[in-house]
Amino acid sequence: MKQHFSHRVIHQVRQIIDLWRQLPQRNWQKDALTELSLSVDKLIRYAGRFGATRHQQLGKDLLQLLMHIAPGECADNTQLQTINRIIQNLSQTALRHTDSPDATALIPQKKPIYIALQNTDQAVVLAEQMQYFSFRPELQRTPQDLVSSLQQRHPAAIVLDHNFGREGMGLEIAAQIQQQRETPLPVIFTWAGTPPSLKEQIQAQRSGSIAFMNETNVHALISKLETRLDCTPPQPQKVLVVDDSRTQSVHAQNILNKAGMITRVVNEPLQLLEVLHDFVPDIVLMDMYMPDCNGMELARIIRQQPEYFHLPIIYVSGEEDRDRQLAAMAEGGDDFLTKPVSPAHLVTTIRNRVDRARQLQQLIARDSLTGLLNHTHLQEALQQAISAADGQTPVSFAMIDIDHFKQVNDQYGHPVGDNVIRNLSLFLRQSLRKSDPIGRYGGEEFAVVLVDADLEQAAAVMDKIRKNFSCLTHDQQDLNITFSCGVSEWQGQSVSELIAEADKALYRAKDSGRNQVCTASSHK
Ligand code: GH3
Ligand code: MG
Ligand code: MG
Repeated sequence: MKQHFSHRVIHQVRQIIDLWRQLPQRNWQKDALTELSLSVDKLIRYAGRFGATRHQQLGKDLLQLLMHIAPGECADNTQLQTINRIIQNLSQTALRHTDSPDATALIPQKKPIYIALQNTDQAVVLAEQMQYFSFRPELQRTPQDLVSSLQQRHPAAIVLDHNFGREGMGLEIAAQIQQQRETPLPVIFTWAGTPPSLKEQIQAQRSGSIAFMNETNVHALISKLETRLDCTPPQPQKVLVVDDSRTQSVHAQNILNKAGMITRVVNEPLQLLEVLHDFVPDIVLMDMYMPDCNGMELARIIRQQPEYFHLPIIYVSGEEDRDRQLAAMAEGGDDFLTKPVSPAHLVTTIRNRVDRARQLQQLIARDSLTGLLNHTHLQEALQQAISAADGQTPVSFAMIDIDHFKQVNDQYGHPVGDNVIRNLSLFLRQSLRKSDPIGRYGGEEFAVVLVDADLEQAAAVMDKIRKNFSCLTHDQQDLNITFSCGVSEWQGQSVSELIAEADKALYRAKDSGRNQVCTASSHK
C-alpha cells in the first residue's frame, strides 16, 4: 500500500514539475495553467486518500498560488519564488527514503527505455546494468520490433545502434520518429568498431541525438540517461537588474519573470554590494550610465571580489558606439546588449549565460572522474545542510570506502579500478535523494550527507545501497565489489567531529569483516 502510494505520488510530482517547467514556454496560457492545476489537484486527492498530510498541504498551497495567476499573465516575483520553493519541497518529499517501506527502494522510471543494438549480447548486458539504476530497459531485437513498439508506446529515450538492422538504418528510423513528434525523443546513438564520421554525427544530431557513444561504454551511457532523465526541478535563474530608471527596470523584470526567472532590482547603484550578498544572483544585468557611477565602475568593483569573479555581467545600454562598448567589455562585462533589446533576445542571452556559468561552476566544484563534489565542497555542503536543518530535522553523514580496492587495481588494472569508482558514484547518485550531497572524499573513499534522516534511517539507506551495489558486476567480468560504511548523526557537535565519528565507525566496519555498515557508537 505504502509502496503503491509512493509510486503514485512520485509520478504525480514528476508530472507537476514537468508542467511547471513548460509554463513559461507555453506563455502562461490558460490551457497550460489549467493542466497544471488539475495535476496538482490530483496530487492533493491521492495524498488525501493515503493520509500524506505534507504532500497534501504542499499541493494545497500550490493550487492556491496558481489560482491567483491570470491566464496570459505570469506569476510575479514573489509568487515565482514561493512556487519554486514548494516545487522543490515536493520533489524532495517525493524522493524521501523513508516513504517506502524498504528504505531506499529505487523508484523505477515509469516510461521504458528502448534498447536497440545490433549486438544482442551487448544489449543484454546494458539492460541488466540499467535495471540496477532503476531504469526500465526494453530490448528491441529487430528494426520491425522497434518500429511497432514505438507505435504502441513512447519510451523515455532510445539507445540505438546507428547501424541497427543494416548500415545507417538506426539513423533513418530515428529521423522518421522525430518527424512525427512535436518535442524530440531523446536518442543516444551507439557505435561498435569504427567511430562515426563527422557526417554521421551531424545526421545523428538532426535525428534528435543527445550523444553518440561506444556501445561498450555502459557506464557513460547510463550516466547520460541519468542526467537527461533527471526529474528534479532546476533551480530558477536569478537575475539582478541594475538600472537607475524605474520604468526600464520594471520592464526588464516583467520580461524575465515571464520567462520564469526570479529578479531583484537595484535602482540605487550604491546599494549594489549589499543586494549582491543578500540575493546571490546568477547574473547581473547592468545599465551603463547612471547618476552616481557608471556600469563599468560597478563591474570592476564586482570583479575585484573573489566570490563574484565568475558572476556573468551583461551590459544593457543605448550606447551604440562600438569602441565604448568594447571598453566596457574590457572591464569584466561578458556581453553587451544595445537598447532596445527584444524580449526573446534578452531571455535567450541570459539563459545561455547562466547555464554555461553553472556548468563551469560544477566543473570547478566537482571531481573530474566522477562528477561528484570534491572534498572541500562536500564539507561546505555538510555545513550548509546542518545550518538549513536548524536543529529541526536530522542530518546524518556517511563515509564509504571500497573494500580491497588495491587488489582490484592489481588484478584487473587501473582503468578497471577507475570504472568501479565511476560505477559507485553513479550508483550513489541514483540511489539517494537528489537533495543529498554526495562527494568523492579521496581515492576510493566517498561521503554522503543525508538530509532529513536520523542515524537509524541513514544506516538503513546505506545498507540497502550496500546490498544492491554488491550485486552489480563491473566491466563485464565476474567482478563484484563491496564497500564498508560508517554513519554518524549530527547532534550539535562540530563538523569535524561529525566526520571523525563516521570515520571511526567506518574503521569498525572494516575491522569487523568489511561489506557492512556501522553506526557511530556515541549514539543511542
Ligand atoms: P580496504 O578494504 O582496507 O579499504 O583495502 P583497500 O585495498 O581498498 O585500501 P587501501 O587504502 O590499502 O588501498 C586503496 C587503493 O585505492 C590504493 C590506490 O591505488 C587505489 N586508488 C585510489 N584512487 C584511485 C583511483 O582514482 N583510481 C584507481 N584505479 N585506484 C585508486
Ligand atoms: Mg582507503
Ligand atoms: Mg578501500
